[in-house]
Amino acid sequence: MAKILIVEDNALNIKLFCDLLAAHGHKPEAVTDSRNALDAARDFEPDLVITDIQLPHVSGLDLIRLIRKDEQLAGVPIMAVTAYSAQGDEERIRAAGAQAYVSKPISVVRFAETVDELLKDGHDRGPPAKVDDEPEIDNPESRANQSEEGPGPGEAGGEGD
Ligand code: MN
Repeated sequence: MAKILIVEDNALNIKLFCDLLAAHGHKPEAVTDSRNALDAARDFEPDLVITDIQLPHVSGLDLIRLIRKDEQLAGVPIMAVTAYSAQGDEERIRAAGAQAYVSKPISVVRFAETVDELLKDGHDRGPPAKVDDEPEIDNPESRANQSEEGPGPGEAGGEGD
């Protein structure tokens, strides 16, 4: 169970992300107004932040930079989700300080895998964990999905803004 903060202005995407994360045993919390996101993150102390990029008021890129500069939150992994993937977007998002990037409409398989990877990496950075903490699960579907770019079998939901 991980605490995951979602910053997203689209109600359908919030529902989709929260349902997905809850189904994977996590505890999601959503913020719709990015001006409240930093305070919400300080209060919630998430293990992972998932942020939309196209947000009113404080853009996702600015929010990522603010989190990276925040003493309390600087080490929290960030996953960006965006409807637009113009040339150079991923580089800008990573340069701002996000570890991962998923484009909308999301593949639910890729979304869940990326969440798992970031949570695992976060643990790796911490104090030494038990080696058999998280056994590898042999999942043919997830292996198949890593090798191809196209939408996975579980593609779902969520037009951008
Ligand atoms: Mn948006």
